[in-house]
Amino acid sequence: MSEYVERVYKHVVEKNPAQPEFHQAVKEVLESLTPVFERNPGYEKQKVLERITEPERVIMFRVPWVDDNGEIQVNRGMRVQFNSAIGPYKGGLRFHPSVNLGIIKFLGFEQIFKNSLTGLSMGGGKGGSDFDPKGKSDNEVMRFCQSFMTELYRHIGGRVDVPAGDIGVGGREIGYLYGQWKKITKRFEPVLTGKSLEYGGSLIRPEATGYGATYFALEMLKTRNEDFKDKLVAISGSGNVAQHATEKVNQLGGKVVTLSDSSGFIFDPDGVTGKKYEFFIELKQVRRGRIKEYAEEFGVEYYAGERPWKVAAEHGVKIAMPCATQNELNAEEAKALVDGGLIAISEGANMPSTLEATEIFLENKVLFGPGKAANAGGVAVSGLEMAQNFSFTAWDSQTVDQKLHQIMINIHKAAYQAAEEYGHPGNYVMGANIAGFKKVAEAMIAQGHW
Ligand code: NDP
Repeated sequence: MSEYVERVYKHVVEKNPAQPEFHQAVKEVLESLTPVFERNPGYEKQKVLERITEPERVIMFRVPWVDDNGEIQVNRGMRVQFNSAIGPYKGGLRFHPSVNLGIIKFLGFEQIFKNSLTGLSMGGGKGGSDFDPKGKSDNEVMRFCQSFMTELYRHIGGRVDVPAGDIGVGGREIGYLYGQWKKITKRFEPVLTGKSLEYGGSLIRPEATGYGATYFALEMLKTRNEDFKDKLVAISGSGNVAQHATEKVNQLGGKVVTLSDSSGFIFDPDGVTGKKYEFFIELKQVRRGRIKEYAEEFGVEYYAGERPWKVAAEHGVKIAMPCATQNELNAEEAKALVDGGLIAISEGANMPSTLEATEIFLENKVLFGPGKAANAGGVAVSGLEMAQNFSFTAWDSQTVDQKLHQIMINIHKAAYQAAEEYGHPGNYVMGANIAGFKKVAEAMIAQGHW
């Protein structure tokens, strides 16, 4: 780290105590930017780092709702509007008991650079609540969403701030949130993305993050004359991102041997394909069941309370796609994967690898696609959903998929070239951070001191 970068990082840590995930995300980005500051001393004078690490606005609010037993429940809601230099704040909402300000700030900070990489006009933001949708009735989820939006509506708008889904927020939650927003405002505009097709959603939005992470992996593999064909692939998670990554990997000829949830993981040596894939989708999308049921149905191994990486490594998995949550792959697991012959990792989730794990992948020349590049397909298609809404049109799935694919190719190219230009060829972490940062920094400087 340069003296300037180190000074800003120390300041961020001191000023934001008890936010370890935010510190981690800032550290990863700032470390990558050292060569940029060496070449552009003007950025330091403009205090770009001091400004970019401080959210433009943080909104925190009470979310009271009544459960099915008539009891009042109280959750905390929040929205971090991190940076609007290149467009309206854009980023998902996460409903999970672990949600706190540090986690939402890490996600919002990452989102700034990710959105910049898509080439679309979107600033960075993120929000959520410590509400746990798991085990709640549809009516409870609806009452919670209505209460959440009754406060959030004041702060968002199609040209101001456009939330979307994330962990615990899928089509059902977006529908309830949008219904309440429209009831209050009586407007139609893309104030939320990830909507259903009937009221302004885009084809391929549910698929976009998983497909995009797979397209990104393919681009990385191509640089070594490799592809997915007949390769074993370890995926973690079993939610939106994991489901569509599995589908796309299958289409490209890879074999997905693991899936997980917060209770454990399954190992299926023959791959999650055909009827088994259909069962998996029905299990998660219709019945909202647990991944353990897949093992029970097909008689494959289930490892309770464990993560998939070590078993994947023992079986010589070549490609890993962590698609569950932050810090779900540590140094020990990274080492095992490298020793097992891993060639590529494409992060469907946000910051799933710890800093130490990332270091191990980079040192061992594993093709490492960081989340802010690899999973940018989701927000990219959200941007396309907004474009369709603003022009009162709807594109067919082939058109959206082609645009998504091209955006992922462009992101890969931008990250690849920035890494080369700044003397770290093949390092997509540096490349993505530098390419994403420079556009936002230039926009901030052009717009004066704010
Ligand atoms: P979902 O809620 O659909 O699925 C999340 C999956 O991860 C579930 O299988 C869940 O298991 C598992 N999971 C969640 N928390 C934990 C935990 N603490 N430990 C172990 N497993 C956990 O979310 P998404 O698929 O949408 O999101 C997954 C990741 O992808 C997140 O990091 C998200 O930020 C990122 N992402 C998502 C985008 C999108 O478009 N949806 C866009 C870009 C990034 P369980 O059911 O047991 O909780």
